Amino acid sequence: WVRAVQPEWTVNRSKPKRVVDHHAHKGARGDVVIVGGAGDAQKDHSMAGACTLAGAAALHGGAGRVYMHLLDARAPRNNPLQPELMYRSIRDLDLQKVTAVCGCGGGDAVGTLIPDLFTDCKQLVLDADALNVVATDAALRTLLQYRAQMGWQTVMTPHPLEAARLLGRKDAAEVQANRLQAVRELVDVFECVVVLKGSGTLIAGPGMPCHINVTGNSRLATAGTGDVLAGFIGALMAQGMPAFEAACAAVRRHGEVADEWPTATQLTALDVAHRL
Ligand code: AMP
Ligand code: MG
Repeated sequence: WVRAVQPEWTVNRSKPKRVVDHHAHKGARGDVVIVGGAGDAQKDHSMAGACTLAGAAALHGGAGRVYMHLLDARAPRNNPLQPELMYRSIRDLDLQKVTAVCGCGGGDAVGTLIPDLFTDCKQLVLDADALNVVATDAALRTLLQYRAQMGWQTVMTPHPLEAARLLGRKDAAEVQANRLQAVRELVDVFECVVVLKGSGTLIAGPGMPCHINVTGNSRLATAGTGDVLAGFIGALMAQGMPAFEAACAAVRRHGEVADEWPTATQLTALDVAHRL
């Protein structure tokens, strides 16, 4: 009733539909837009870094072009440490043609963009604050069902607390007590691929058997690794991998990086992105 994510689903061995061949150009390798990184000028807060991590993961995950829609008006529209990232509003992108990774440090502000992303993006990854918005808005559930009917691909990547909010449970412990049931329920309610993160990440989707990931360790329990995973899944989908396979392959490789990392050295989320 639950299968292990298999090695043939590792990134290198799976076969994206859009093969990167000798005469490939960046436009043929898939475009990703990261939406998030909210800020609060009054409190002097910014979550722009979450977006950078997801963007770095999308680049290292093989996307041809990575755009950043930053919600923090004060954050710089250039990152000298990751100059490949292009800062652009989603209003200036053809959303039909990009894979959107939405939520990373998005705060409540991400909610204003979600309806457009839901109706225009054929490939969507929802993480963090985007999931919290979905948890509180029943109309978005209907839009997710509409997306499923259209054959558009959606992946949700909740950690246990986000899953608890989505399911209306008391707390993360209630989800952790029966993770398999929780992930199945999420798939039933939201009709999309769900990645329930944590030790032994579960991946499930409509009509697909539930899979458990066997890689990874507690070194991933550090800020930003979830943003990296979301960006990586988006990059694989942008390159033509179906959502369920992209989720399995990304989760597996993300965990493998932590398993391979030298034991004497601390692992950071950016390290994970660079090693994908
Ligand atoms: P987030 O909670 O959104 O920052 O995501 C954390 C990421 O690290 C997810 O991909 C988790 O599956 C992974 N992770 C966190 N703690 C562990 C752990 N103890 N073992 C394996 N993976 C973990
Ligand atoms: Mg997270």
